[in-house]
Parts: sequence; C-alpha cells; structure tokens
Amino acid sequence: MDQTEQLVENQREFFLSGETLTYSFRKEQLKKLKNMLKKYEKSIYQALKTDLNKSNYETLTTEVGFLYTEIDFTLKHLKDWMKPEKAEAPITHKGTKNYILSEPYGVSLVISPWNYPLQLAIAPAIGAIAAGNTVILKPSEFTQATSSLLVEMINETFDNTYFAVVEGDKEVSEKLLKQKFDYIFFTGSTTVGKIIMREASAHLTPVTLELGGKSPVIVDKDANIDLAAKRIVWGKFTNAGQTCVAPDYLYAHEDIKPKLLKTMKKYIKSFYGKKPLKNEDYVRIINKDHFHRLQAFLTDGKIVYGGNYNEGKNAIEPTILDKISWEDSIMQEEIFGPLLPVLTFSNLDDVVLSIKQIEKPLALYYFGEKLPAQQKILRDISFGGGCINDTLYHLANPHLPFGGVGSSGIGGYHGKYSFDTFSHKKSVLKQTTKFDMPFRYPGGKVAEQLVKRIMR
Ligand code: NAD
Repeated sequence: MDQTEQLVENQREFFLSGETLTYSFRKEQLKKLKNMLKKYEKSIYQALKTDLNKSNYETLTTEVGFLYTEIDFTLKHLKDWMKPEKAEAPITHKGTKNYILSEPYGVSLVISPWNYPLQLAIAPAIGAIAAGNTVILKPSEFTQATSSLLVEMINETFDNTYFAVVEGDKEVSEKLLKQKFDYIFFTGSTTVGKIIMREASAHLTPVTLELGGKSPVIVDKDANIDLAAKRIVWGKFTNAGQTCVAPDYLYAHEDIKPKLLKTMKKYIKSFYGKKPLKNEDYVRIINKDHFHRLQAFLTDGKIVYGGNYNEGKNAIEPTILDKISWEDSIMQEEIFGPLLPVLTFSNLDDVVLSIKQIEKPLALYYFGEKLPAQQKILRDISFGGGCINDTLYHLANPHLPFGGVGSSGIGGYHGKYSFDTFSHKKSVLKQTTKFDMPFRYPGGKVAEQLVKRIMR
C-alpha cells in the first residue's frame, strides 16, 4: 500500500470509529480551524503577497475574512442543521413518524484552484467538517507559498487521519482520484471538472463541481451609470480579474456606452492609480502561460483604456477593449484576467438571444432600473447565480447557495448549503406497533375497494 492509499485508509478507519458524528466534536474542529487562521494570519498575508501580490486588504476581505464569517455562521447554526428534519406523511401512513437525518458521507476529497488559494481550499472544508466528514485537501500547485502554509497550519492543528493536505500537481491529483472517496468537491476549470466526474464515476462517488465560464455584465440605458461603473470596475479588476464570478465581458446599451466607459476609467484610476503597473498592491497574473494567453487578446478590438503590461512582473493593466464582436478570440474562452471586452446593444432581446447560445455562465449581472427588464433577464437566461445592479456580492451572502449550472458547475455551497452538500439525507419512517392498517396487505374485497378509494 503506498502513502496515498494509506492516508485514505487511515481516514476511513478514523471515520468509521464514529468520532466525527457528534456535535461537540465538529464544533471543536471548527473552532480549531478558526484559531489556526487567526494564529497564522500574518503568514497568510505574506503567502498571498508572494503568490499573487495580493494586498493585506484584499487578502482580508476575499480570503481570510470570508472564512471567519463562514466559520462563525456555521458555528451559530450547526446544532440546528444537525437536528432530524420532520417530514409530513399521507393518510396511508397513519401512525408513522417521518424524518430526514443528515449523515456524513465519510472520507471527502477537496481539490482547489490557485485564484483564491486559501479561501477556495478552506471554505469547502468548513462544510465537510460541519457535516462530520474527514478531509483530504489537494491545493493548487501554482500557489506554492499558500500550499506550503496550508500544510504547515493543518499538520499542526489536526491529526492527518482527520484532516490532511496532499500537495502536488495534476499527477498527484490523478493518483488521489484513483482512490475510493465518499465525496469529491472540486473547484477549477470546466475541462478538469469533466475529468473529475469521470474518475469519480468509477466508485460512484458523488461530486460537487464549482467551475467557470463567461459571465456577462449587462448595462441597460436606464441604469445608474455611476454605480454601475464603480461596481463593475470593482468586480472585474479585483484579483486582476482572476475571479471565477468576475464579469467576463460587458454588454453596454449604445445610448449610455460613452458615459459608462468614461466613468469606468475614472474608477480604475481611483482604485488603482494612474499607473497600476507601479502600484505595489496590484495583483499579478498567476504565471507566464496565462500572461501570454492574455497578452494575445490585446490585439482584439480597440484598446480604449490600459493595455500596458510588465512582463517581468507578470502584470497587465486594467484594460477596456471596445469594438468587440463574438468572433474575436477574447470571446471564445473564459478570460480570467484584467481585460474587459465591450459589446454594444440596442435591443435587450438580442442580448438575451446571444447569451443563450453559449454555455450557461456561472454568474450574470444586470444593471437597469425597470422591473420587467430585470424579470426578463432572470426568467430567460439560465446562470449559476448573480446580481441585479451589482457584481460578485451574491457570493458573500451565506444564506444563498453558490454554484454553477450546466458547464459552469454542479451543486452549490456556502452556509447551510455546504452542510447539506456534504451530508447524505437519510429518510426514516418509524412505524407504530399499536395498530396495523389492514388494507396494505393482499386479499379481501374490502381492502381492494379501500385502496382504490385512497389511491385514486
Ligand atoms: P484547474 O482546473 O486547472 O485546476 C484546479 C485543480 O485541479 C488544481 O488543484 C490542479 O492541480 C488540479 N488538476 C489540474 N489538472 C488535473 C487533472 N488532469 N486531473 C486532476 N486534477 C487536476 O483550474 P485553475 O486554473 O486552478 O483555476 C481556474 C479555473 O477555476 C477557472 O476556470 C475558474 O473559473 C475556475 N474557478 C471556479 C470557481 C467556482 O467557485 N466556481 C472558483 C475559482 C475558480
């Protein structure tokens, strides 16, 4: 048995001991997790600075602060979530009690990407722990400082028969996937998501797939332009556009486009300075491959803002590209960088039609004041989740499930949805022994007539 098999085996043995089943155990682990993050907060800032040049502010708001909120929310509600859920019963079930128990699946595998390397590794683990599973975490190989820190923190805080980190690249991931897990939670690209699902099928392991796609932002002619511009710039250029739910491209109504672009430029300057490449806190592109991929898009359309880059630093300015059409190369794949292509429209129906023709996006954002137009967008276009008059904000509400649909993902999480994701819902009927309904058994005309009346 090699190391990977041994680790899974040890975790399964620990899971089967039943220790993770109690509320007190799970509460304890969540508290340990929060204390761990608090203790290592400074090292977390350093790691994210090293990996992505994230500022402390951005790390606090989008990584570690997000996790504190998620842990606190889970601790506050876990006891309630763990209670059996009562269910109704039809008249044919008189005398029975019916309920749904949430039980952990067992040994879970969490595979995470590089763009929010701490948050996207730990947030699923919070759900796995809350629901009583053990966890093996495989972080991304592209954010080495955070990955090493995860090993250090988790090894110090947890026994690896309960919560372990396995570092490494895709080969390590492939090897892990050959093992039998009871649940797999994957965050990453749609291409790899398909591989995960295929591998999971060998053991019939259920999966959650948090994937990507091209998320549109639409600005209608009656939108509040100043707020739209500010919120789009924030949502697009946070983390240098390397956010799964970042607006990928902008659809602007022709009447307001000039004003919108002008206001967006104002906010880019206000958030990142006139020379973002000189800004100490401007997030860089993760690696050379992605840098060159993004650089090639700069020849599409017409650059109306930004467009400069620093190859040595792997940094590209917040850039707006106008005069873009669906045929341009930038419209053929998820951008995942600080480039915002702009399409122009005069009729909202055309926008709806064109978005419906491509894969279902992870997010969609619509800016406009009129209710019928908002309703049209929500009814006619399928997408994972999104906002009216904002960007990204939906994902920070723990009362909302976060996830994709179609090629942007399967399943959802955050808050109670994380607990539910990592729980099997076991239906139980407790029958009375005080009496016995006669009609369910074969034989006798009366029984047959009764059944016919009840089961019409
Ligand atoms: P990726 O799919 O390349 O890698 C994700 C993880 O899978 C990494 O840990 C990697 O080591 C592993 N992996 C890579 N190839 C593998 C293989 N063949 N077999 C098994 N494991 C493999 O994704 P990425 O580049 O790290 O992240 C960017 C993508 O993730 C974007 O598409 C983005 O939209 C998506 N994303 C989605 C969400 C979400 O919540 N829906 C969040 C962040 C990122």
